[in-house]
Amino acid sequence: MTDNTLNLTQELIRTANALRERGLLFRGAHANLSARQNDRLLITRGGSVANLGENDLAWLPVAAEGLQADFDANHREIVDMHTRLYRHRADIGAIIHCHPTHSTAFAVAQQAVPAVYEPMLRQGMHTDVPVVAWAPRGSSASVNGILDAFDTPDTVAVLLANHGVLVTGDTPEAALNRLTALEEAAELVLHARVLGGEKALPEAAYREVAERMQRYRKAS
Ligand SMILES: [Zn+2]
Repeated sequence: MTDNTLNLTQELIRTANALRERGLLFRGAHANLSARQNDRLLITRGGSVANLGENDLAWLPVAAEGLQADFDANHREIVDMHTRLYRHRADIGAIIHCHPTHSTAFAVAQQAVPAVYEPMLRQGMHTDVPVVAWAPRGSSASVNGILDAFDTPDTVAVLLANHGVLVTGDTPEAALNRLTALEEAAELVLHARVLGGEKALPEAAYREVAERMQRYRKAS
């Protein structure tokens, strides 16, 4: 293994462990995650990421499509969801799919998570996180729906109706932090609804946060 290959392997394992530690997995610990390196990607081979090890990861070409023999039988179908999204959006470097409790509740209700929580803005979610219509896991219809949502350059995360969430980032860590903000937002919005409902941020907040972040990034 080259240093870069080893680093990405360790980063995905660290990310999977963080999913568990941050309470972003539901009881079955079902998730799949991947990271892109040039024209290939490293991806989980099984359905559970509890105690993920090197042997649970596989390298695939980004051009890969369809069934992969060395994947768990009931997990082969998710490959296209990753490879086609990488081919669709050159800016995406990592993808996490899982079923965090609160954002998945929004997915089950087929309701977008509103962008009303400051950390969402800092994590690039400047608009409501939309729901992609139901279709069976990994089917062309499901992947096509995801790609349609990602036609909008601002889209960085989606809810999969009656299923779970899919979040992207430049790196696995960036996707993890974005997923964390999304799940916190979903939990807080549910609490806020007991108190009379969430309130929108002022329109300018979205632009102000983006501008401030850009300014600080340039300065660093
Ligand atoms: Zn799932």
